[in-house]
Formats: sequence, structure tokens, C-alpha cells
Amino acid sequence: MSKSERDIQGITINGRPYKLPETPRIVICIDGSEPGYIERAIEAGRAPTFARFLANGANRLANCVIPSFTNPNNLSIITGSPPLVHGIAGNYFFDPERGEEVMMNDPKFLRAPTILKGLHDAGAKVAMVTAKDKLRLLLSHGLDYRSGRAIAFSSEKADEANVRDNGLGDVLNFVGMPLPEVYSQDLSEFVFASGVRLLETFRPDVMYLSTTDYIQHKAAPGSLVANNFYAMIDGYLDTLDRLGAILIITADHGMNDKHRPDGSPDVIYLEPLFDAWTGKGRARIILPITDPYVAHHGALGSFATIYVPPRSDVAGLMQRLRAVEGIEAVLSRAEACRTFELPEDRIGDIVVLSGRQKVLGTSRENHDLSGLKEPLRSHGGLSEQRVPMISNRQIALPERDQLRNFDAFAIVLNHIVMQGAMA
Ligand SMILES: [Zn+2]
Repeated sequence: MSKSERDIQGITINGRPYKLPETPRIVICIDGSEPGYIERAIEAGRAPTFARFLANGANRLANCVIPSFTNPNNLSIITGSPPLVHGIAGNYFFDPERGEEVMMNDPKFLRAPTILKGLHDAGAKVAMVTAKDKLRLLLSHGLDYRSGRAIAFSSEKADEANVRDNGLGDVLNFVGMPLPEVYSQDLSEFVFASGVRLLETFRPDVMYLSTTDYIQHKAAPGSLVANNFYAMIDGYLDTLDRLGAILIITADHGMNDKHRPDGSPDVIYLEPLFDAWTGKGRARIILPITDPYVAHHGALGSFATIYVPPRSDVAGLMQRLRAVEGIEAVLSRAEACRTFELPEDRIGDIVVLSGRQKVLGTSRENHDLSGLKEPLRSHGGLSEQRVPMISNRQIALPERDQLRNFDAFAIVLNHIVMQGAMA
């Protein structure tokens, strides 16, 4: 099959068609990029490339998946499907059969192939760079590095990358940067610097770049720290654009202030409530934001799922939760899975979402907030669902279409206006 035949036919992954591209296509997920960060950086004169894209390309908004957390959304973007299809509904879940809480960073929990794997297997050259290593195995699952057409690594463990496991070795030398700290802007900069080097040398047909939201957890849109971060990104986007790549820039979720006027986190602790309602320690509260890197959010987000004791009055408990100040939505498992397209076997009896300013915790003692150096900003709820969908080209989809962030690969491969886009 010639390349042009493939282009006409395209391939289908998780029920959606994708064309194989003639020119490099890059999907960029700026972790936690709440609408406003880019606009404020442009207003401050710090993001001329973004300004150019917004004027000449596309500037749309999209919805992310709920829970508005990193892993469910990165996996949705890379599979083009909701968690109901790919199975990753949080950073971890409760396995009722084993009676334990399990991290979901192992590919065995992934139930759908990625778009990168589909494109690779159809003959494309693909690359993936993620900031934190926790996502690397999931996002690169199924890639066969022996083909010489796949490269995937993380900034965090770039020093350990090798040809057998990542398709590329000596990555620090290749990128020309030292290994970044986990809690730093540099971890995300390394992703972009890698993307530029890969585009210059390996020239993938399709690439996915995914940063970390360390800066967004600390700094609001328009702040100097945030503007510095977006100015850094802006410089790399300019290079990627000038190297001829077609870009889609989106986010896994938004980000909001979740603190009181005095700067203390505005938390609803759920465990004391359920201790009073269902008996001490009998309900299990799962906060799927929890992961090994909690210093910047203290494992506090706006989404929780709760396993209640057998024979509980679930409807009655839901009523009581709804009466708690700051709770935005309470859904049964069936309602939540239908509404948010989630897998029923990885969601508790009740799903609860807190409002824009509030986060959900288990109990005061369970959350180590010593790593929180700034007033808490976090995500997880409906108030963090809006994310950007920006391109350096125009998008051939009607404005009235409600985009999802996991449409990113479909848009960059199938719905870019190829003529008359660049002024
Ligand atoms: Zn995130």
C-alpha cells in the first residue's frame, strides 16, 4: 500500500477514523492550562506566537473529561475516547475484589489501544514525550521500538532512556539540557526542547507532548510566574511552527483557586461526615487525584468517589451530601458513569463534586499540606472542565460544535484547513 492510498483510506482506532499525514502533526497537552493563562500572557506581551496562532489559526474551547484530572484526560486524548472506553478513571481506584486501593499507572489497566500505536502500526513515525514518568508507560503502550519508527520517554527519567525501551538513548545529550527537577518549570521545558529536537532530527509524522501543571498549581493567570512559563512555551511553539509542524494545543483540565481569603485550603472533609452517617471507618473515600507527587496539591481535588457499606441507604446518603455547603453535584454510580462516560467497575457507589472554590478531602490528618507553599489551586470538578483548543492553522469544524479535548488528534489529522490558512 502506497502512502497516498493510506492517506485516502486512513485507519480506525477505537471507532474513530484518522488520516495518516503528509506533514508532521503535533498534539500538545499543556497540563492545567485553564483558559486565561494564554490570553493574559499575550496581553502582557509575553506570548507573540500564541497571539499569531489566535489571529491566524484557531482559538476554540473544548470540554475535558470528568474527573478533570491528569491521567483520565491524557489517556482520553491519546486514545480519542472517554474513560468508559480506555478504563483510566483516575490516578488510582479501589478494587473491591482485592479490597485494596490500586494505582492505575500500569498499562494492564488500559482497555483501549492508543492512537499513536494505531498510527505506528499503519507505518507512521511517532514520538511521545511526557513530563512525569507516571504517564509514560500508559501513553506509550504498545509501541514497538524495534521498528525504528517510535520514540517515547519522560523528562523525569530522561537519563534512564535507552534504545530498547524508549527508541532513543543518551537523551540528555540529544536535548542539550540537564536532567530537570520533578517540581520545576524545567520538567515541562524539557518536554518542549525534546519536541523541537525530535522534529529537527527524527521528524515524526505524529507527536504527542504532555507537560506538568506544577506552575498552574502555584500561579494564577497573569501572574509573573505564569507569564514566564507561557513565554517559555511560546518560544518553543514558534520553533515548532517554523519547522513546518501543524499543531493542536489543548489541556487535560483547567485550574482554579481553592482557598479561603486567608490563603488556607477550602476543604470539605468527607470522612467525618460518613463516620457519623454510616459508622466509623465503614465507608471508603477515594480521591483519584492522589498520586506519588502530592506536594503541590496535597491530594486535594474537587472529585471524590465513595464506597458505602452494604445495605446502605444510598439515596439518603446522597441527599445528606447535597445539603453540605460547597458541594456542587452528587451522583449515583450509574448516573455518574452515564453522565461522564466512566467505567462502572472503577467508580464507587456515590460520586461527589465540589464547587469552584472547594476541594474534597478524607480527614484533616490524612492530608500532608506541608508541601503547599502557596494558597491551594487545584482541579477535578466541573468548574475545571473548560480547556483551550488552539491551532497554528484554521480548524474546519463549525463553531457550534462542542469540542472535547480528546478530539485533538482527530482535529490535527482530519480537520485542518490546508489552504489559505496562513496569512
Ligand atoms: Zn493535569
